[in-house]
Amino acid sequence: MSSPDEQGAAAEAPLTLAAFARMPITRLKGVGEKREKAFAALGIDNVLDLLMHYPRRYIDRTNEASITDLVPGEEAMVLARVERVSSRKTKNRRTLTTVTVRDRTAQLTCTFFNQPWRERQLQPGTEAVFFGKVDIFRNARQMTNPVVDLVGDKTGRIVPVYPQSEKAGVVTWEIGGAVEEVLRRSASRGIADPVPADVRSQYRLVTRSDAILGIHAPESMGQMVEARKRLVFDELLRVQLALVLRKRALEAVSQGIPHDSGRGLVQRFHANLPFALTGAQQRAIAEIDADLAKPVPMHRLLQGDVGAGKTLVALSALLVGVQGRYQGALMAPTEVLAEQHYIGIRALVADLIIPDDATLLGERPVRVELLTNRTTQSERKRLAADLASGAVDLLVGTHALIQDSVAFRSLGVVVIDEQHRFGVEQRAALRDKSANDAAPDVLVMTATPIPRTAAMTVYGDLDVSVLDELPPGRTPIETQWSRTEADEAAVWQLVRDEVAAGRQAYIVCPLIDESETLEVRSAQETYDELAHGELASLRLGLLHGRMPSADKEQTMRAFRERELEVLVATTVIEVGVDVPNATVMVILDAARFGIAQLHQLRGRVGRGVHISYCRLVGEANTPDGEARLEALVRTTDGFELAEIDLDLRGEGTIMGERQKGRNDLRLASLRRDRDWVERAREAAFALVDADPGLAAHEQLRVEMELILGDNDTEFLLKS
Ligand code: ADP
Ligand code: MG
Repeated sequence: MSSPDEQGAAAEAPLTLAAFARMPITRLKGVGEKREKAFAALGIDNVLDLLMHYPRRYIDRTNEASITDLVPGEEAMVLARVERVSSRKTKNRRTLTTVTVRDRTAQLTCTFFNQPWRERQLQPGTEAVFFGKVDIFRNARQMTNPVVDLVGDKTGRIVPVYPQSEKAGVVTWEIGGAVEEVLRRSASRGIADPVPADVRSQYRLVTRSDAILGIHAPESMGQMVEARKRLVFDELLRVQLALVLRKRALEAVSQGIPHDSGRGLVQRFHANLPFALTGAQQRAIAEIDADLAKPVPMHRLLQGDVGAGKTLVALSALLVGVQGRYQGALMAPTEVLAEQHYIGIRALVADLIIPDDATLLGERPVRVELLTNRTTQSERKRLAADLASGAVDLLVGTHALIQDSVAFRSLGVVVIDEQHRFGVEQRAALRDKSANDAAPDVLVMTATPIPRTAAMTVYGDLDVSVLDELPPGRTPIETQWSRTEADEAAVWQLVRDEVAAGRQAYIVCPLIDESETLEVRSAQETYDELAHGELASLRLGLLHGRMPSADKEQTMRAFRERELEVLVATTVIEVGVDVPNATVMVILDAARFGIAQLHQLRGRVGRGVHISYCRLVGEANTPDGEARLEALVRTTDGFELAEIDLDLRGEGTIMGERQKGRNDLRLASLRRDRDWVERAREAAFALVDADPGLAAHEQLRVEMELILGDNDTEFLLKS
């Protein structure tokens, strides 16, 4: 099975994954052009694909149910041999195939409707696994339309069952047979192990050879478990190596600024606050200060639930820069958010004075400016001059900040809010905005809590600080799911009552994924309906994404100043809007939203001294929808909700944009294997820090590129 280029001197070297990847599947016995196509339909083009096509489950022959023990009404799985098979047409012209099977204990009848090909598939003597619900028909046990896995003539105690494709016509025993052939033919050369022996023994991992054998042809379930562990580690290690290399590359590329956090401005800022910092805020600030003091640029993620007080932490970081006469920038994803940050930050720094020799008094207040697409041309000009001279200390804005015309005198710290909306390139662009050579420190904030292990995987090139504690005195948010019409009537009564008590309310319109136009129309309809119906006596405003931003801001301002009592909106209010007097959040057709989004929306209330309410309106049409709404009712803890979300949706969606194309996590689950995520990360750091270019680990590098693909490893080749 070795190809010409593998023969000769290296012929006896153990086989690497790269070598397996170079072997087309046609190298196997009985795989010609036709079978090649069939395998390709399963995503198997080469021998490596085949080896990474792992069994879906296993049948332990000593453990499986025997036919005599089957309980009518329950689902069961039996391994049995076909004795007889026959087909006939029923009265209503359907094909009925009856298959009689037997194990060592008894007989079972399996019936299939309209699957005439079963007669060919289940020839007498065939061994197969039948999975289905058992019932009793004419005194005999039977299964109707069971799931069938052909296992072939296996003698092993444990039979692997592969994901198969009836459409492509590849069944589990064919895959099993092909895998067996590969294992047999590669036995003499063996399979190379790129993970050093000391790492293997540290984590008690079997060799790769044993792992590949143990996952495909285990002699015991225990052996399979050990094999899986090792393969999970390999998957996670490849991802972590890529991330850690990227992290170290980022740190190595540029000279940073060793900020001094010891001087008085930040202390004065904290002393002036009307409240004490939470323990979590103090911890995060200390972590950030330590990063800022280092001569390498910071790349840190600040995670925290809605309302955890991230802005304050970010501002502390910006002010460390300012006190050393550096400028700071805060970039937000929307104008509403940028404006909100601008107002908030101005208020927070209002009393802060910094020395400035260029002024008459030798000191001046900290100066904050706003830059969005709405900033006029003449304002822009003035701003540009003041940024270049250093007269502006902090610039808050949208992605207008990364336009070409913006240049800072000396950008020291950059904060990016709501990272998931910005790409990596945009981050880089902002970093390059400074006239001085040193790269600014970067803090990324996200208000979407994600579980720790997911954060390590998705944001693994960043250090992470977590605000896992809300400031004291938060009013609880009472959440209910309003499923019925009567419930909904009570919702509108609640809105009227709260407004009568001087509070305000948000009403979020149904999410329409397919089209913003439809969404806007539905928001308009909801608004009209409420304005003429249930909420006719209240002052309503409408906010949606298609409004000119001047109107948007006008509406937000009116709501903030209580000219409007109720704000009917699309999800544009999802992030950042902060009106402490608002106490009701009504979400229509709530089951259409994801957990994170619902949590964000709910976080818009509960920000003042009054008790707040969240009402999730409408039926859930799916079990997942039901689980989501129930979770929201049960807990307000964002991290707990994030775990539930991971449970419901799996890793794929969490990885999202950032991980596009990364499909290496075949066996590993960020949830089940969370300990292994941490171990793999630890191992990756140890390997990279001992050998920054992985020069001594050529195979690991090759594997990363081979399996993770270009996107993820591009940076490695660049650096
Ligand atoms: P986040 O950005 O994490 O959602 P913010 O920074 O907007 O949260 O803070 C939410 C609110 O809590 C703000 O009004 C802020 O002034 C207030 N806040 C922040 N930190 C504290 C604290 N330690 N004690 C009391 N209130 C705080
Ligand atoms: Mg905020």
